[in-house]
Amino acid sequence: MSIFQFITDELEKIKEQGLFRSLKGIDEVKGSRIKIDGKKLINFCSNNYLGLANNPRVTKKASEVLKKFGAGSGASRLVSGNLRVHEELEHRIAKFEGAEAAIIFPTGYMANIGTIQALVGAGDAVVIDRLNHASIIDGARLSGAKMLVYAHRDMDQLEKVLKTASALKKKLIVTDYVFSMDGDIAPLDELTEIAKRNNAMLMIDTAHSTGVMELKVQDARLKTDIIIMGTLSKAIGSLGGFIAGSGQLIEYLRNKARAFIYTTALPPAVAAASIASFDIIENDDSLRKKLWKNVEYLKKKLEPLGLNTLDSKTQIVPIMIGDARKTMEASNYLYLSGIFLSAIRPPTVPQGTSRLRLTVTAMHTKEDIDLLIEKLAEVKEKFNG
Ligand code: PMP
Repeated sequence: MSIFQFITDELEKIKEQGLFRSLKGIDEVKGSRIKIDGKKLINFCSNNYLGLANNPRVTKKASEVLKKFGAGSGASRLVSGNLRVHEELEHRIAKFEGAEAAIIFPTGYMANIGTIQALVGAGDAVVIDRLNHASIIDGARLSGAKMLVYAHRDMDQLEKVLKTASALKKKLIVTDYVFSMDGDIAPLDELTEIAKRNNAMLMIDTAHSTGVMELKVQDARLKTDIIIMGTLSKAIGSLGGFIAGSGQLIEYLRNKARAFIYTTALPPAVAAASIASFDIIENDDSLRKKLWKNVEYLKKKLEPLGLNTLDSKTQIVPIMIGDARKTMEASNYLYLSGIFLSAIRPPTVPQGTSRLRLTVTAMHTKEDIDLLIEKLAEVKEKFNG
């Protein structure tokens, strides 16, 4: 079979299953308001949780650095791309996470694949929650370590799985902290105890909690040696991934993580934007408070609708529909009603659990949420959410 025939057949198959993906081009962004093809929409699926991507202090700092240092870094960090702004950002992250040191990668995806691959290999075990983010799964696959999967947040099964790995050299447990598609939270206290008891390393992906609710991870760090992974692309409103941990761990990653070594450094203006965001969230709690007020308001209003929102405890609220095609129809219906809320389908989530992944941010108003609730009630009626 020719490669072209293969591609044609695969695309056909994807379409038949209702899983075809296409892009929607956004023409304008003003906080939670966006415009697509002239249509005004309220964005209810952004990870810009605190609105920092569009904060005037953040964009001002980024444009100053853009003018001074240019658009790109020009090389990888270890060649000639290591600008002071990268180092400053790493110091800020280390301080923010209460860690000795930090290292940045161009994206969170790369932080996960680079770190997991550097820490474990053939003869080791990487132990992951079934619902971990794709970048963790890909890192585990790339590493060549034996991949062991436990049921979502099931600590008894984690212990059992670890026992089967007792003959292997090193063990690394990796989990999302806030699960990206479910909005629930990993049991950190139990995880740290289990890691300690089984002599395993523990890596926590805080992508969706960085800047939103990091305190608990910091507390846990004091009890055991946790490797903190995070991203700058969500609440921090910029781009980049990071690892925070001991000075030695960070030195090791600089020497061993291929996704750090063999790629161009983050553009300086992007790093500067993250620094400005840390300036804001470290000195002012108001955005975070507004976010949690909105989360609370949304959940109070959602409850009477009787939609299945799994065990969401955060700003990520899945609206479970199940069938992939129906979920697309629900998303399209909301789009026509002025609400941008994209459908999440397999393989991002397991078969039969297609959903609308709703995220509320500090930028939404009460009126935005009221309109959303009104439209979700219609979705429930039409698509049996
Ligand atoms: N980890 C988790 C849990 C995520 O949700 C994401 C992004 N969706 C990533 C890692 C990757 O981060 P980035 O988008 O910065 O590459």
